[in-house]
Amino acid sequence: MNGIDPVLIVTAVVSLLVMSYLSAWVAGQKGRSPAEGFILGFLFSLLGLFVELLLPSQSRTSILPRFCMQCGTALTPPGRFCGRCGSPVRVA
Ligand SMILES: [Zn+2]
Repeated sequence: MNGIDPVLIVTAVVSLLVMSYLSAWVAGQKGRSPAEGFILGFLFSLLGLFVELLLPSQSRTSILPRFCMQCGTALTPPGRFCGRCGSPVRVA
């Protein structure tokens, strides 16, 4: 009994980081914020990764066009109408 094994700490930290990156990757694949996924994975480790896997993908919002089809203006935030020319942006 001489305290906590350093190898155990390193293993825990590495697995925590792996979970964080995995969650960030999953979030990115689902069209959600990778940073959010990273935080989830970092805070909740394996649980966070599962939560990220279970969360619905935001494909609905990510398929919203980011540029106006008429005038090419970047839509910030992506919406249904162009902020410059006011033409409705079609959603596939
Ligand atoms: Zn426009």
